[in-house]
Amino acid sequence: MEEKEKSRFEEVEKRIEQIKRARSSYVPLLNFFKKLFFARLNTFPHITLDEEDLQADLAEAKIGNGFPLLSKEKIKVDLKSAQGLFQTLCQIVEKENSELEGAVKEIREALKDNKLSLQELFEGWVKEEKYIDPQMASFNFPLLTLLVRYSLQPSLQAIASRLKNLIHEELWGKGYCPICGSSPFLSELRGEGGERIFFCSFCGHEWKGRRLFCPFCENTNPQSLRYHYLEKESEYRIDLCDKCKRYIKTIDTRKLEGVIIPEVEDIATLHLDILAEEDGFQGMNPLKKLLFEHTPPQQKDVKRRKT
Ligand SMILES: [Zn+2]
Ligand SMILES: [Zn+2]
Repeated sequence: MEEKEKSRFEEVEKRIEQIKRARSSYVPLLNFFKKLFFARLNTFPHITLDEEDLQADLAEAKIGNGFPLLSKEKIKVDLKSAQGLFQTLCQIVEKENSELEGAVKEIREALKDNKLSLQELFEGWVKEEKYIDPQMASFNFPLLTLLVRYSLQPSLQAIASRLKNLIHEELWGKGYCPICGSSPFLSELRGEGGERIFFCSFCGHEWKGRRLFCPFCENTNPQSLRYHYLEKESEYRIDLCDKCKRYIKTIDTRKLEGVIIPEVEDIATLHLDILAEEDGFQGMNPLKKLLFEHTPPQQKDVKRRKT
């Protein structure tokens, strides 16, 4: 294993341990997800992709005009690796999560009996995120989508890391990903000046965005943008937009030591998704549906602030 890959495992492990010490209610959930994350990291070095021939000048024109580099119909993932990873993830869920064991068995049986086609599920998901196929209807839908999403993630991440050098960050400034056009699932306030970074929910790419800004409706009016946070964990906040009634969780890494792992932060802040939705804001966290019973009791000491 190369140094860079090894260090990613270490970073994930370290951050998970750090959160477990601070918030014990998340220990079982983080132990479970760590296994899924490690399976994905193990797949990453084996991804093989077709060569894309995206010219630098075309990329610049797209970015300059507000178009993401890729249209989803044209994304080609490594199907073989994704299929292998899907099976590994199923085995982990079956072994490690008694509540999802039955549901994952049903999915595996259906694959064996050809009642489910992984290739169709993967292709459908890439073309149309949050894709619902009639063949998925009778299964545990949040679990099946999680498995599909996680299986494709190493390919999508490899595509994003190949293309990211073609992006002129200064020319962007949109609320959607410059590579694939998807919405962010998390944002970060980083460095001295608290520069705002968005993390793509589809390909994992990170891009710089405006500080006072709703990534979903591009609202920049301070009168309708505000945030909530909990006293005990002021490094996390929920940014709310009164215009489109959506929210995004933000982590202020100036208040933290070490490296953050966006997807780990997303899991360890599920209580904030619940709070935001109770306040009538619409979220996009697919884990909430799957794991609702596991989330810790709601903490009540919410601070409400204008941005
Ligand atoms: Zn993306
Ligand atoms: Zn908005």
